[in-house]
Amino acid sequence: MNRERVTIFDTTLRDGEQSPGCSMNVQEKLRMARQLDRLGVDVIEAGFPIASQGDFDAVQAVAAAVRRPIVAGLARACAPDIERAWQALQGAARPRIHIFLATSDIHLKYKLRISRQECLEQARSSVRLAKSLCNDVEFSPEDATRTDPKFLCEVLEAVVEAGATTLNIPDTVGYTIPTEFAELIKTIRQNVRGIEKVTISAHCHNDLGLAVANTLAAIAAGARQVECSINGIGERAGNASLEEIVMTMRVRPDRYAYETGVETEQLFASSQLLSEITGVSVQPNKAIIGRNAFAHEAGIHQDGMLKNPLTYEIMTPQSVGVPNSMLVLGKHSGRHALGLRCEQLGHNFDRRELDEIYRRFVVLADKIKVVEDHHLIQLIEEAHRPAAVVDLPIAIARAASASNGNGGTYKPFPIPLSGAISSISVSSAAEHHGEQEDYLWGV
Ligand SMILES: [Zn+2]
Repeated sequence: MNRERVTIFDTTLRDGEQSPGCSMNVQEKLRMARQLDRLGVDVIEAGFPIASQGDFDAVQAVAAAVRRPIVAGLARACAPDIERAWQALQGAARPRIHIFLATSDIHLKYKLRISRQECLEQARSSVRLAKSLCNDVEFSPEDATRTDPKFLCEVLEAVVEAGATTLNIPDTVGYTIPTEFAELIKTIRQNVRGIEKVTISAHCHNDLGLAVANTLAAIAAGARQVECSINGIGERAGNASLEEIVMTMRVRPDRYAYETGVETEQLFASSQLLSEITGVSVQPNKAIIGRNAFAHEAGIHQDGMLKNPLTYEIMTPQSVGVPNSMLVLGKHSGRHALGLRCEQLGHNFDRRELDEIYRRFVVLADKIKVVEDHHLIQLIEEAHRPAAVVDLPIAIARAASASNGNGGTYKPFPIPLSGAISSISVSSAAEHHGEQEDYLWGV
């Protein structure tokens, strides 16, 4: 069956990163972007280049490192933002400039202090400028769901004329409800000239817990791109959760006969990696990837599950990449099994990095019989933590933190292990590594 495709636009690294406690540095964004690439998202919004040097660097680094997905940079509707975004996207294989401008009267009056006419002109001219630089231009009328629909359609028509290729309709404040949002998408499809040439997108916030429901309603009404994030992170109550949207389409093709490029088996790993990077874990009962999402506690449920999983399971844990719990990790487990489990938890280590984890794993496994996933995640986190420096020869640690220059936190792993340390003190790093190798290969 030939299904229509829905483009998955991931904004974990932009809107997601704006949520309290979820900010990420360049290296962390790069790690996450590589996992998003493995996950199969179509667009990665990597940041807001004019917002800070860090955001600029992150967009540039992601654009250079990730070649398959489109990489988008966010810009307000003005020349300095657009030019800065374009500069950050120079190395991208498939760049996209994403421009936003508020269109609701409340935002025009109190935030931007411009008239509707000025807003219309600014939207048109900024898209024109972006189009002169980049073929792929997305426009978002911020606070669209509280904008007069007639004016909204006028603005959208102007930006389509100016060359926008995607029209994203944001429910910026998480105010709309599914039936209303579907009507808005229909109104846009019926009233904006040239709409058939462009992709309509939905960007929903979860203030009323309706972000995923509103997004699905938009798809049913004709949206063919959805903006979402891993674990649903984002401003305030968050964005629509990627895993919930994608799995709804996979579990209910009878109602949502669309396909995406997402490898659903990578969902759990993506969620775990994000939690590890940000230090923000998901609630246990979070749909799809929460700790309890596949746990069956009640006796009658367990009985049914044992007779036939279909009694209580609408999708298998394997389909979202939850590790097979039959594989028990203990002190007799080898590096291969450990590496595999790390991959399932979102960590793709090179050999040397895995050595370090394995060294810690063996010590732990000696103390406790079975190393559960949460132990392993903690162990990986510890390997990232500055305190882990004590495990390394002091001279190397000192040299590495001095080379940091800013006196800030020194992360001994994974970056310095393969980069900074070896370049600072090759001989002692090699010595240290040699010890590890003997130990590891001897087990
Ligand atoms: Zn947003």
